[in-house]
Amino acid sequence: MELQKMFIDGEWVEGSTGKTVPTLNPANGEVLAMVAEGNVEDVDKAIAAAKRSFYVTREWRDMDSQTRADILLKIADAIDAEKEDFAKLDCMDHGKPLREAEADVDDAIHCFRYYAGLLKMPQGGVYEVNEGFGKMHSYTVHEPVGVCGLITPWNYPLLMGVWKLAPALAAGNSVVFKPSSNCVLSCVKLFGIFEKIGMPKGSVNLILGPGGITGNRIAESKDVDMVTFTGSTEVGQSIMRAAAGNVKKIGLELGGKSPNVIFADADLDGAVEWAMIGIFLNQGEVCSAGSRIIIEESIKDEFVKRLVKKANAITIGNPLENPDMGPLVSESHMNKVLGYIKKGVEEGATLVCGGERYTEGECAKGFYVRPTVFDNCTSDMTIVREEIFGPVVTIQTFKTEQEAIDMANDTEYGLAGAVFTGDGSRALRVIKEIRAGITWINCYNPAFNEAPWGGYKKSGIGRDLGVQGLEEYQEIKQININLNPGIVGWYEH
Ligand code: NAD
Repeated sequence: MELQKMFIDGEWVEGSTGKTVPTLNPANGEVLAMVAEGNVEDVDKAIAAAKRSFYVTREWRDMDSQTRADILLKIADAIDAEKEDFAKLDCMDHGKPLREAEADVDDAIHCFRYYAGLLKMPQGGVYEVNEGFGKMHSYTVHEPVGVCGLITPWNYPLLMGVWKLAPALAAGNSVVFKPSSNCVLSCVKLFGIFEKIGMPKGSVNLILGPGGITGNRIAESKDVDMVTFTGSTEVGQSIMRAAAGNVKKIGLELGGKSPNVIFADADLDGAVEWAMIGIFLNQGEVCSAGSRIIIEESIKDEFVKRLVKKANAITIGNPLENPDMGPLVSESHMNKVLGYIKKGVEEGATLVCGGERYTEGECAKGFYVRPTVFDNCTSDMTIVREEIFGPVVTIQTFKTEQEAIDMANDTEYGLAGAVFTGDGSRALRVIKEIRAGITWINCYNPAFNEAPWGGYKKSGIGRDLGVQGLEEYQEIKQININLNPGIVGWYEH
């Protein structure tokens, strides 16, 4: 593949240092492409271009809203026309099975279509206000925030970008987008579409390069009006600190350690399958992963038996051949996950399946880890407390409903959670008590463009997707109109 370049002020550029780095296929460690590496200078150019586009030329911001919506629909159609290529890029660059990459691309297409429609919805409100200064008409309008910096992780390379790009652009902002340097190929291709569709110069800018340098510059720049970030809690905290300089708006979608609570009256086979979707989808590299199974003691042994049988039957292999699980994203991430597994054993959890690198045939060259289940876990263990971001699940047991709720909430995170039970009232009772932003009853992990996505506690601030996902990229202005212009008589008392 040709050199993957940045897109700044309507031009493809190599970056001021001329440095390039390889991006690897995690299925075999081979180089997929060389990628331009940006630095602070490139980020400053991209921010200046976005600033000119928003504050000076104003083409995107001032565009008739129907025309802007039509452009978003054209972007969706253009992705649709090349959806197999998009899916293969994420599959090879990240390692996710092809059918999962295809589903991601479908979601990305729908996301642009959803926000194309949503930007035409009625916005703002009209307020009944007091008449202390005479009769007034008070109403609000929604306006774009300005220059938005968007920073995303590698686990859903295209989709995490689109979750931010579609609403930010729908709202009329100019953007500087920085995907994770681990997986950039589908994002570069998306910017090829932006160029072909004719997005106004400077309205969309793509920066590639190490987050500590380029992402940090976006977060600290006083010319950026908002930074939204999806990634680890640790980096999210550093972005908050950097963003404080000009009190820019922030949106943070961070890590998780989400509970999956299973009661004895649940449909057991259903709970087993959804638990697997909860932790083995995308090799467990999912922020909302149901990484802590909390199960009623009386059914634990039977559940574990069925789960282990199915987990051992999971097919692992080259993601393009559509196995159930592909490799982890990189060698270093695989080693981090294997390190957690080692720690789990050392701290006394019972390894009941997986627990090692998978090296059958061609997979020996890639970064594969077998689906891993730890039984007999306790809440003080590292594998129960920390986000592993791999196909590793822990099992804890409870006897009472209150114990299950307490265990579910015993985490500094609050992204997601689920409950499985045949008792409808209990399902509603327990889900209401779980301190998390995304929850499921008798299922795990489905996500929708229409519903707001985000976390409590250390899992973040704000929401992606849904109506709230558009409002994140808008300022709300209050407009008060005097219905009887002229003298008030305030100083004539
Ligand atoms: P990461 O935090 O290492 O990196 C995320 C992005 O931030 C990348 O683009 C990276 O280059 C950039 N970055 C790194 N250091 C930076 C800095 N100092 N300043 C600014 N930007 C910087 O995360 P990752 O390893 O790419 O992704 C995994 C994490 O993302 C997990 O913790 C996962 O839970 C989280 N995640 C959360 C959600 C959600 O919706 N809440 C979704 C997906 C992933």
